Amino acid sequence: MSELDSYYSYNVGKIVEEIRSRKSKKVLIQLPDGFKHYSTKLLGRLTKLLDNVEFVVDANPIYGSCILNNHILINYDLVLHFGHEPYPYTSHVNEKVVFLDFLSTLIPSNRLMNDLIAIIKSLSIRKVAMYSVHQHKGILGDVGRFLRNAGIDVLNNLGNATIMGCWFNDVLNYVNTADGYIVVSSGLFHSLGVGMLCRGLKHVIQLDLYRGEVRLLDDVVVKYLKIRYGKIMNSLDAASWCLINGVEGQFRNGVRERLIDVLTARGLKYLEYQSLIINQETLRNIDNEDIDVYVITACPRIPIDDLQDFEKPVLTPGEAFMILKNINEYLFPW
Ligand code: SF4
Repeated sequence: MSELDSYYSYNVGKIVEEIRSRKSKKVLIQLPDGFKHYSTKLLGRLTKLLDNVEFVVDANPIYGSCILNNHILINYDLVLHFGHEPYPYTSHVNEKVVFLDFLSTLIPSNRLMNDLIAIIKSLSIRKVAMYSVHQHKGILGDVGRFLRNAGIDVLNNLGNATIMGCWFNDVLNYVNTADGYIVVSSGLFHSLGVGMLCRGLKHVIQLDLYRGEVRLLDDVVVKYLKIRYGKIMNSLDAASWCLINGVEGQFRNGVRERLIDVLTARGLKYLEYQSLIINQETLRNIDNEDIDVYVITACPRIPIDDLQDFEKPVLTPGEAFMILKNINEYLFPW
């Protein structure tokens, strides 16, 4: 069995059924960037079952379901998008796109669960809400039962508890009742997002199945919030604002219009750019003395996770609104 089939589960039957029922001949496969190296194994399996179908793998960056590369979908009968759920902020998705689960088969060891309980008890936490990234959603029920058996109250519906880097399901519904949040994810990205959404006021515990670690993230969240408040302070006197808009699901016209309204009302100058890729190089190409501050309306994680070190402040929409509307509480993501 390949590493792909040992560590991940995906529904081959559903793929075959979709392709046959739609009589698809040209199929585009989209995988999150971290899983693209499995594409040869996946193609090997699919071409054995469907030898009259032409499969092509989308090598463009796929960070989330916010961008489906609509400009190339036109060339295909069907798009198999693995490992993400439909983007909640997009009202219409191309009917050629089928979202497929790509779930980790990892389960937490007893040692890991005992570590989790130990951290929860050391913080005197009685009530939690628990969320996961897409690939770990299958284990939430088991982890929830374990916690309840240990006397911990799990408040939210674990059958619908996935989050994204800019969308946090019903996390805020529990901010007054939960003593803390548990996030099943790897890397800081999603758990940090929950911590920032809650303004660092709640404990955030990360259960990382890949590293086999339980981590209390409270200090990390506070560190990031301090950095973000520093960026906000450095932007208070900005006279010239540069909005960078994204494309597809990252083109947020409502956010953009609200920003323009408030900039105009305050008599501030602004200019707009639009880009699929937004990174240091994008800003270096644009930057000049006419720009005091950048606001990324595309992916709100770019200012926090990618452009924190840029020499001029790069803000999320929420941070921009804090300055422009005199809001003191941290506002994330918009
Ligand atoms: S965090 Fe960024 S990449 Fe992820 S879904 Fe949101 S906009 Fe897309």
